[in-house]
Amino acid sequence: MPVSAATSRPDLAELDREELERALADLGVPRFHGSQIYRWIHHRGVTDPAAMSDLSVELRQHLAASVEISTPTLEIKQTSTDGTTKFLFRLADGLHIESVYIPDTPAETFCVSTQVGCAMKCAFCLTGKMGLVRNLTAGEIVGQVRRLATETHLLDKPFNIVLMGMGEPLHNYDAVMKALRMIADDRGLAVAPRRVTLSTVGLIPALKRLATEPLMPNLAISLHATTEAQRDDLVPINQKHRLVELLEVCRTFPVKRRGRITFEYVLLNGVNDTPDDARRLVKLMHGIKAKVNLLPFNEAAGLPFTRPAEDRVNAFAQILADRGVTVSVRKSRGRDIRAACGQLIVESAKRSPAQKLAEKI
Ligand code: SAH
Repeated sequence: MPVSAATSRPDLAELDREELERALADLGVPRFHGSQIYRWIHHRGVTDPAAMSDLSVELRQHLAASVEISTPTLEIKQTSTDGTTKFLFRLADGLHIESVYIPDTPAETFCVSTQVGCAMKCAFCLTGKMGLVRNLTAGEIVGQVRRLATETHLLDKPFNIVLMGMGEPLHNYDAVMKALRMIADDRGLAVAPRRVTLSTVGLIPALKRLATEPLMPNLAISLHATTEAQRDDLVPINQKHRLVELLEVCRTFPVKRRGRITFEYVLLNGVNDTPDDARRLVKLMHGIKAKVNLLPFNEAAGLPFTRPAEDRVNAFAQILADRGVTVSVRKSRGRDIRAACGQLIVESAKRSPAQKLAEKI
């Protein structure tokens, strides 16, 4: 059972409802309080036992003395001119992560991190420059959503979640899947899996495992290139998890009726945004229930690419549309506060050489 490193007490924020009931039983608390406490934490966003007003005073005191209920601490909240809000959270061990609230796109959307940093090192992504610092726990992933929902007054309202913040979700598989289960629980945030989109570079064994999960989020694949050689350069994990194999897995992936896999494609000026690239992309999508989401590159110091002009983006999209591929262009939200795709990077006290380099350029 996850216990707090500081106090060695069980950390209730890390537990799904069944685990929570068992933990309470171990403390001599009747199991039925499990659902009640789960509701306080995950539905009402209350992590202080003293404030759980429908529990007896004795039980509240017992909990205060014998458990932890950890929650990310909000340090900075920055709102963009377009309403997008970026949150900097501090975790129990002092590390930081960023999450983003994107209002009405058309749904309310939370963009959530799954790791501190990322090991994938995609050539155009700022988070990749941090390297991987550590995985987030399930409780930290759920905690972000809970804190975001509390801060934006959406605890009781519908919202979508995209696992498109810092980190590669399939590189932290077990914690991510547990978090999705905890978030889906109807005593908690009750966010149905169809409201969640998991975005991945395409780690093949993990994708195959995902295909067998009972609780299935929507799938987005960060494709970004149409040849093995170019994807090797832009998304280096392609050297191990090949494009051809990735597309094969996508072809047989169990998408729901009328569902589709989203293919994200960052457009880098003069690199992967030519008409030939667009035509190759059309071919790759053949036989896959796909839609393509084009992401015009968000520029950042330290990244050696530029954003293509709008007419170039439109021309690329038109080639896809003309050949029957569903395509959309992602509007960059929150670029003025560096909250847009690939712009999440947390400067720690101990900066890695890559981070220092990214800051200098
Ligand atoms: N690691 C996962 C989750 C990140 S999702 C994944 O790669 O899918 C964030 C999306 O934004 C990914 O498609 C990523 O490739 C893209 N992205 C990263 N840097 C970007 C940038 N500078 N401009 C536009 N999109 C970027």
